[in-house]
Order: sequence, then C-alpha cells, then structure tokens
Amino acid sequence: MTRVVVLGAGIGGASVVEHLTRGRAARLGVDVTVVDPRRVGIVRPLLPFVAAGVLAPGAAAVDLRRIGRHARLVCAEAVRVDTAAKRVTVRDPLTRGESELPYDQLVVALGGAAHDSGVPGIIPHAICVRTVADALLLQRRVAEAAAARLRLPVAVIGAELAGISIASLLSRAQPHTAVTLLDRKPWPLPSFGRDLGTAAEVALAGSAVTWRPGSAVAEIGSDSLLLRDGTELPSSVVVWTAGHRSAPAAESAFPGAELTAGRRLVTDPMLRVRGLADVWACGDCASVPWLDVGGDCPPAGVFARTQGARVAVNIARVLRGEYPRSFRRDIPILVPAGPHTAVGTFRGLHLSGVPGAYAWAASLGCVRQRYGPAHGTDPGPDDPTTVLPVPGRTVPVFRAGSG
Ligand SMILES: Cc1cc2nc3c(=O)[nH]c(=O)nc-3n(C[C@H](O)[C@H](O)[C@H](O)COP(=O)(O)OP(=O)(O)OC[C@H]3O[C@@H](n4cnc5c(N)ncnc54)[C@H](O)[C@@H]3O)c2cc1C
Repeated sequence: MTRVVVLGAGIGGASVVEHLTRGRAARLGVDVTVVDPRRVGIVRPLLPFVAAGVLAPGAAAVDLRRIGRHARLVCAEAVRVDTAAKRVTVRDPLTRGESELPYDQLVVALGGAAHDSGVPGIIPHAICVRTVADALLLQRRVAEAAAARLRLPVAVIGAELAGISIASLLSRAQPHTAVTLLDRKPWPLPSFGRDLGTAAEVALAGSAVTWRPGSAVAEIGSDSLLLRDGTELPSSVVVWTAGHRSAPAAESAFPGAELTAGRRLVTDPMLRVRGLADVWACGDCASVPWLDVGGDCPPAGVFARTQGARVAVNIARVLRGEYPRSFRRDIPILVPAGPHTAVGTFRGLHLSGVPGAYAWAASLGCVRQRYGPAHGTDPGPDDPTTVLPVPGRTVPVFRAGSG
C-alpha cells in the first residue's frame, strides 16, 4: 500500500485527504496519515464573523478527529524531513518526544503566519487575527472602545482578503464602530488583479468603511498610526493583516529547498516541490505558479482548497503511471462584504449579495459552518499567533491577549 503523509490539516491538507480517500483515488488503496499538532482546526475565513459577533466562536473551529474517518491523524508537529530516506520526524506537543513516519509520497500543507514586515509597534499594539482567541480579543477591544465612547476609528491595515472582510464585517455588524481600512497599494486586493480590486472598491464605497489607498504605515503606537508621509491617524484599535509568510516549519523542515522571499516552498505547475522527489506542496506555505493570470497564487483559502484537490488527483495519476497535470484556477474568488453578502468575480461575471455569500462559503467548503445548524460556543484549544520578524530582527512570540 502506498503511504501518503500530509503535513497540516488546514484547508489545504483537509482537501488533499478528502480527494485522496474518495472516488477513483480511493480505489488505489492509499494509506493516508495526517500530521497536525492541534485537535481543533481553525477555519480562518470565518474569524472575521466571530470578531464582528455574527458567528459563535465554535463555528470557526472544526474537530480534526473527523479526518480520522478517512485517514490516520497523528497529533504532532512536523520538525524535520529526510527526503533521501523518505522519513518525517514528528514531535509530540505534550511530551516533546520525537518519532519517525516513513512515506512514499509527502504533501506539505503547513499554512502561513503573520509577518511584521519590519513595521515597529505591531507586537505591543496591534491584533493579528489568526486564531479564535484573537477574534474574541478584537471583539472585546472594539466593545471596550465603544463603551468608553472613544470616537476613534478601528484601523485595519492591509486590504487583502482578511483585511477587507474584517473591516466590512465590523462596520456592518457594529454600525456604531467607525472603521478605516488602509493599504500602501492604490486599490484593494492587489494580489488578485484589477477586476476583483474594482469589485471590492465598489463594495467599500457602498459601505461605512473609510478606505485609504496609498497609505504606507511607518509605525504603530498605542492610540495612533504614523504613516510614511508623516500623517498621524488616531485609532482606538489597530488590526494588522498586511504581512504574510510561510509557516516556520515549511522552511526549517526542508533545509536547502528553494524558497521565495516570503519563505514559501517553490513548486512547479504540477505542485511538486522543486528539487525534491515525491514531495508536493499546496496552500499558504507553497509558491505555486498562477498559470491563468501570471505570477504566483496569492495566499488564500480558495487556492489552498483547489490546490489540495489537484495534489490528490496528481498523486493518484502518478500511482497509475500517468503524468500529473498543471494546477489551473477556475473557481470564483470572493470576499465577504457584510454578514450576508460577498463580492467577487468568476469568468468575468461579477457576483454579489446573498448568492455571492453562498458562492464564497461554497468555494471554501465552509457552507455548513456558515449556513448550517448552530455550533457550540466552545472554541477549543488555540495555537499562539506568531508574528515573525523580518530577517535580522528578533521579537518575542506574541500571544493573543498580551497586546
Ligand atoms: C482573518 C482571515 C480571513 C481570511 N479570509 C479569507 C477569505 O475570505 N477567503 C479566502 O480564500 N481566504 C481567506 N483567508 C486565508 C485563508 O484562511 C488561508 O489562505 C488558508 O487557511 C490557507 O490554508 P492552508 O491549508 O495553507 O493553511 P491553514 O488552513 O492555516 O492550515 C495549516 C495547518 O498546518 C498546521 N501546522 C502548522 N505547523 C505545523 C507543523 N510544524 N506540523 C504539523 N502541522 C502544522 C496548522 O496547525 C494548521 O492546521 C483568511 C485568513 C485570515 C487570517
């Protein structure tokens, strides 16, 4: 039986398992093992809904043991990979004991981490919404600022998917909260192309969010932001979504692998990690060519999910003695613009409103959490949010609640 080991049970890893253990691929008789240090996974695209008080915290958490129905779940963190001997060294998060897992095919789906991009003040003063605890901290800070009748806006830095959805949801669900969204680029969603940027611009113009393009943040203080042009913007709460890089393990586990500036593993269009035999990568830790548009696929759940599916199909093809196929995106890309609305584009068509919201949830596979029966409120154990420094600087690990 072919042993497939998947590192990371997030959106990308779960998609690999789902597609390897059903249909034609399941008949190949693969033995799938998933490695993740947590028992509770986080559906990060739902965190803005939790922060805005629209969803209960438990709705953004998934019990990873459900993966166990289709594959073996090893609750440990991946530390090293010996690609010559085809073994992964994993560490138990409680006992710190190490053990080895042999593989025939390896999938790296370790996700990403927030990055400070060299801007001072993020660790003591800003919130990075990466976990359920961060979302609840943001909710509490916004409520405290409202109770203290602070008229200062909540400043959300970074107008990619996370920043737009946090700003839009906060301003729609908490109408008494003024929200400013800033980005150093001239239009929103800069990594996704002009079409989607225009759709997001229209949605922002129709909302109560104050949109400030071309605003590069130089420093974050306790109650204000300093822009590079010298402007000072008073703010009650600061949310940082602007920096992104690969999860630390994706870099440390593969010394010598080709990495981008954001420390993502470089893959070919078939999602094979360049220079490593029988190693595949998908999601936020991978730099995958975006053949339809040019450049690399930006870090996004829709890409993690569809790349995970392509990795599974390609592994099945290789096992059948066929050539793997290139990853191509042909899915809607949308961003929530309120509790029941999302905007986006698909094959030149503009999507919005409630149909847009359904298309958004469907594209991420989180329809059930978003529109299904109410979940409990127990968010489960969380991982610490790590803001990684730019090379050459050392900063302590930032835990939600310490800011
Ligand atoms: C607030 C917010 C809002 C967002 N909104 C959207 C949106 O509207 N649409 C969209 O498309 N995207 C959105 N995103 C981005 C999306 O969440 C990510 O792109 C997606 O989660 C990436 O999937 P992944 O599988 O690569 O990583 P993840 O889902 O982060 O999973 C990585 C997994 O790897 C595990 N892991 C980490 N280190 C190790 C290790 N050493 N060993 C083993 N396992 C490990 C982690 O525990 C985790 O389970 C949003 C992100 C945020 C933060």
